[in-house]
Amino acid sequence: MKDGAFLGKRVIVTGGSRGIGAEIVRCFTDEGATVAFLYRNSVEAADQLAKATGAIPFQCDLGDPYDAERAIQEAEGAIGGIDILVNNAGIAHSCLLQDMNQKVWDDLIAVNLTSVFVCCRLLIPDMIRQGSGRIVNISSIWGMVGASCETGYSAVKAGVIGLTKALAKELGPSGITVNCVAPGVIDTDMMKEYDEETKRSLADETPLGRLGTPRDIAQAVLFLSGEGGSFITGQVISPNGGFVI
Ligand code: NDP
Repeated sequence: MKDGAFLGKRVIVTGGSRGIGAEIVRCFTDEGATVAFLYRNSVEAADQLAKATGAIPFQCDLGDPYDAERAIQEAEGAIGGIDILVNNAGIAHSCLLQDMNQKVWDDLIAVNLTSVFVCCRLLIPDMIRQGSGRIVNISSIWGMVGASCETGYSAVKAGVIGLTKALAKELGPSGITVNCVAPGVIDTDMMKEYDEETKRSLADETPLGRLGTPRDIAQAVLFLSGEGGSFITGQVISPNGGFVI
C-alpha cells in the first residue's frame, strides 16, 4: 500500500509519456496519487512509464478536440473521478512569422491551447460538484516575454496564461484553483533542435548557471496541487533559474 501527500487524489496529466509530463506522473505516483496520462506517439515510453509507476496511459491526438474528449472521458472513468488536472502537452515550432504556414499555426493552437480548453471544459463540472479541484496549466517563459522566431508558440503560451487567470476568477467561488507553471529552458526532447553549444550558452545566460530539469517543473506543479497551493490561484509561477526576472 502506497503512502504520500497525494494518497487518494485522482490526477490526469496530458503529455505524460516523455519529458516534463513523465516526471510529473512519476512525482504524483511516488506521492500515492492515482494517475492517468494522455499521450500521442511514444507508445513504448508510455508503456514503460505505466509499468514503472502504475499510472494508466491513454493514447490520443490532443490536437483533435473529439479524440481529446474521448480520451479524457476514458481516463476519468478509469481513475474514478478527478481532483487534479495538469495540462502539460505541448508542441513548439521555430521560424520567422512570415515563413510559418497555416497548418503549423493551426497545430500550435490546437495542441497547446484548444486542448487546455477541452480538458478543462470536460472535467470542471465534476470538480464543481465536489466543491474542490486543482488545475495546473503549463505555459512557458515565452508566453510571458515573447521569443523571436517563436511567435506562434509565444502567442499560444500567452493564451494559456490568459485562460488561467480568467478561469481562476470563474472557479474560485467553487473551491477550485487554476494556476500556470511557466518553465524556463528545460532539458527535454523539445530542446533537441538546439546543439550543445547553444545549450551551454543558454545555461551561461541563466543566473543559476544551468538548464532546468523536468523535476524542477514537476516540483512546482506538485506544490500548486498540494496543501501549499491552497490559497494560490490565477498565478504564474516560473521556474527558470532567473533567466527571466
Ligand atoms: P516533450 O516534447 O519532451 O514532450 C511533449 C509531450 O506532449 C509528450 O508526452 C507528447 O506525447 C505530448 N504531446 C505532444 N503533442 C501531442 C498531441 N497532439 N496529443 C497528445 N499528446 C501530445 O516536451 P516537454 O516535456 O519539454 O514540454 C512539456 C510542456 O512544457 C509543453 O507544454 C511545453 O510547451 C512546455 N515547456 C517546455 C519547455 C522546455 O524547455 N522543454 C520550456 C517551457 C515550456 P508523445 O511523445 O507520446 O507524442
